[in-house]
Amino acid sequence: MRVAILSDIHSNLAAFEAVLRDAGSVDALWCLGDVVGYGPDPNECLDLLQSLPHYCVAGNHDWGAVGKVNLEDFNEDARRACEWTSRQLTLDHRRYLEALSLRLELGHFTLVHGSPRNPIWEYLVYPSQARENLAHLQTPHGLVGHTHMPAIFSCSTEDDGQPCQAFRPVTGLKVDLKETKGRLILNPGSVGQPRDGNAQVAYALLDMEVETIEFRRVPYDVHRTQAKMRRLGLPEPLAARLSVGR
Ligand code: ZN
Repeated sequence: MRVAILSDIHSNLAAFEAVLRDAGSVDALWCLGDVVGYGPDPNECLDLLQSLPHYCVAGNHDWGAVGKVNLEDFNEDARRACEWTSRQLTLDHRRYLEALSLRLELGHFTLVHGSPRNPIWEYLVYPSQARENLAHLQTPHGLVGHTHMPAIFSCSTEDDGQPCQAFRPVTGLKVDLKETKGRLILNPGSVGQPRDGNAQVAYALLDMEVETIEFRRVPYDVHRTQAKMRRLGLPEPLAARLSVGR
């Protein structure tokens, strides 16, 4: 079984389609939240996601767009894009986003958007946070998004107070789960709005037969998404940042 692990699609259909082309035939998509927000294609991205076998958890933008989290906590551009998204969503899509759960446990993995202890809002950036979050994971490993930065936190199995180690995965890196002694928290990066200085789409591919997770980057038609955003009057900084991946 092959699974594409996606996070932070952010209504960027061109980026989402590039992932699916690159991944080839997969048995399922595991989505770590923020399907919508920022970008120009909320309904199209939700249609595409729902047309495929998938599991998905809620992100702050998903719930912001349906009034389940307070938009006062968003910066101005994010809030404007979220309000625009809210006006576009079909009734079926609103219901789908409202019903998303905060966490899912699938095999050896727990899926959340932000972090296991605060699934909507925590940005899991530091190794000490990864260590603290292990207590909130009932599975060996965790999958998170929200930061838009691919990351690997590698932790010992014992609760010995040792900090986890943090790595920035290079493109094409394969994590061998069979060789992994400890616990992992992995972030595949963002499909629709990368922020690590690389404008290419980021995602990860889990192969359950050989027990590997590969971190992948793929170019996509950034201009197609930017042109739509400008036509629709979405905030210019949100379009401009896609060129640089910041
Ligand atoms: Zn996001």
